[in-house]
Amino acid sequence: MRIDVDLYSDTVTRPTADMRRFMSEAEVGDEQKMEDPTVNLLCEMVAELLGKEAAVFLPSGTMCNEIALRVHARPGEEVIAHATAHPIHFETGGPGALAGVNMRSIDGPRGQFDAAAVEAAVRPPHRHFPRSRLLWVEQTSNLGGGSVWPLARINEVTAVARGHGLSTHLDGARLMNAVVASGISAREYAAPFDSAWIDFTKGLGAPVGAAMAGSRAFIDEAWRCKQQMGGAMRQAGIIAAGGVYALRHHVKRLADDHANARRLAEGLARLPGVRLDPATVETNIVFFVTSANAAEAVEHMLAHGVRMGALGPHTIRAVTHLDVDAAGIGRALGVAREVFTGLPG
Ligand SMILES: *Cc1c(COP(=O)(O)O)cnc(C)c1O
Repeated sequence: MRIDVDLYSDTVTRPTADMRRFMSEAEVGDEQKMEDPTVNLLCEMVAELLGKEAAVFLPSGTMCNEIALRVHARPGEEVIAHATAHPIHFETGGPGALAGVNMRSIDGPRGQFDAAAVEAAVRPPHRHFPRSRLLWVEQTSNLGGGSVWPLARINEVTAVARGHGLSTHLDGARLMNAVVASGISAREYAAPFDSAWIDFTKGLGAPVGAAMAGSRAFIDEAWRCKQQMGGAMRQAGIIAAGGVYALRHHVKRLADDHANARRLAEGLARLPGVRLDPATVETNIVFFVTSANAAEAVEHMLAHGVRMGALGPHTIRAVTHLDVDAAGIGRALGVAREVFTGLPG
């Protein structure tokens, strides 16, 4: 099957020729001994970017989340997160299996909650209750449609958590999308969190890896988990170089992805049976509801070389990234028009 325009996820990006060249020339060493200069450089860059003492390079964002859970919480303790949070749905039960924690999900529109919801979810001390230990925020919210948490709201919810003695964690898989969309720095967004990470394999377009930042003590503990879980590497500079290159060259261009997502949304919103408010598209993720069968619609589009994801019986997700340009969006809209005009709805 030939896919001309792949909007399934921003994880499908392939390293550019320039990124590959930069990676191939990376200076490397034994990462476990802290002797890989490129990994060390990337960790310094991420610690600086997020305004923390230190950072650790990890194979994936999932491992950042799973390690953060283990460092912050003991088995039986509770993590307060939005009902759409990544570890609840897409980490194979890792929070229970690896950290032994209870995930307490709370609600709110577009993947976000407010201070009152956090206040209501924190458990009073009682022998019957799990101990509330950690507050979790996802910026941008993936299943919330790539929504950007306003800084004021982040400050409010984390203040409630701190007032009750909870730690705070930022899943920043797409933090740089929020930064580019809002003009607010990564450092400001990360400031109220004890731990925060960014993914290099989403919109930033590197092939492997994520990096998590926090206090020196937090990162030392994270390193123990990384070693134990088999995430410690050797000449990892070859992949870390992709992250270095991405931070230098692929951040500003996220604005193109956001413009493409908005154009896609405006086109889709005009199609028969499609429900979508383009004004809700803040970054690179477009969710829409169709009166047709989503799986069927996605299959028809795929047959015409355009891939999107069916995320529910009538819900479809399309994600823009650096391998899709404006012409690709035009092509995707042409195919979508054909498919949604022809489908029973
Ligand atoms: C993709 C994603 C992750 C996991 O990152 P991987 O690098 O794919 O393991 C975690 N959280 C969110 C919000 C994500 O979108």
